Amino acid sequence: MASSPLLIYLDDKLVPESEAKVSVFDHGLLYGDGCFEGIRIYNGRVFRLTEHLVRLYESARSICLTIPISIEEMEKATVETVAANNLRDGYIRLVITRGVGSLGLNPYQCPKAGIIIIASGITLYPKEKYETGLNLITCATRRPPPAALSPQVKSLNYLNNIMAKIECIQAGCEEGIMLNEQGYVAECTGDNIFVIKGGQVYTPTIASGALNGITRQAVMDVMREMGLQVHEVTMTRHEVYTADECFLTGTAAEVIPAVQYDRRPIGDGKPGKLTAQIITKFKELANSSGTEVYSTRD
Ligand code: PMP
Repeated sequence: MASSPLLIYLDDKLVPESEAKVSVFDHGLLYGDGCFEGIRIYNGRVFRLTEHLVRLYESARSICLTIPISIEEMEKATVETVAANNLRDGYIRLVITRGVGSLGLNPYQCPKAGIIIIASGITLYPKEKYETGLNLITCATRRPPPAALSPQVKSLNYLNNIMAKIECIQAGCEEGIMLNEQGYVAECTGDNIFVIKGGQVYTPTIASGALNGITRQAVMDVMREMGLQVHEVTMTRHEVYTADECFLTGTAAEVIPAVQYDRRPIGDGKPGKLTAQIITKFKELANSSGTEVYSTRD
C-alpha cells in the first residue's frame, strides 16, 4: 500500500486525497445509488481491466446511470491514477455515483454522475489465513432475489452483504456462505465459492444468485488449463459439508482456502492440495498478464 498521501481521480482530474470530497447531496451517499468495481494491479499491470470496465458499464446501464466518459477514457483514467500513485501491486476502487441531486429519490434530478478512482491497497483477510484457511458459517441473511436487484449489478448498496458479514464476525468467523431465496448456495459476502470432490470442481451457477466474478472466471480458465473438470451447479450446503476441498475467489480476496463450515471440518480440515496448485497457477497468470501501466518495465 502507498504510504504517502494518495492522488485520487475525482470526476475529471487527479486531486490530493485531502481535496477528494463528495457532496452530502450525492445520491451515492444518500441512497447507495451508484455502482463500483474493485480491480487488482499485479507487477505493474492491471488485471483483467477490460472485463472489469465492461462489468462496470453494464452495472451502470442496468440502473439507467450514464457514465459521463467512454469506456476508453475510463481505461486511460484508471491507468493514469495507478501511475500517478506509483503503484506496482495494489487495488483500485472505481466508484460511479448518481451524483448530486435533491433529497428525494428521483435519480433524474441528478444531472451528472460522479467518478471516483482510488488506487491504493486492500487486505480482506488476515495474511496467515491464506496458509491456514478460513472458517465459514451459513449466514441467516439471504441474497436478494434477482427480481429485487440483480446480483450482476455491482451496486453501491452492499447492506445485504454487510448484514451477512456482521453475522460472520459475531460468530467468530472470517466469512460466510449466503444462500439464495430457495436455500441454495449463492456465494460468500464478497467472494465466489468453489468446492472440490473426487478431483472435480463445482461452483454455484450465476442463476443461483452469484456475481459472475472476474476472479471466478480467471480461476475457471486456470483450472481448465490444468485439465480439471469445472461444473456450474445448483449447490446445497450438503455439497460443501461433504467436499474434499473448498476455496473462495474475489478480487480483494484473491484465491483463499476454506477449511471449516458450520464448525465441521471440510475434508481433513486443512487447505487442500489441488487448491494449493490452483493458487500457484492463478498467481502465475495474475503476474504475467494485464494492462501495462508503465511503458518502460524495470
Ligand atoms: N461476489 C460478491 C458479492 C462480490 O462483492 C465480489 C467482489 N467483487 C465477488 C463475488 C467476486 O468478484 P470479483 O472476482 O469480480 O472481484
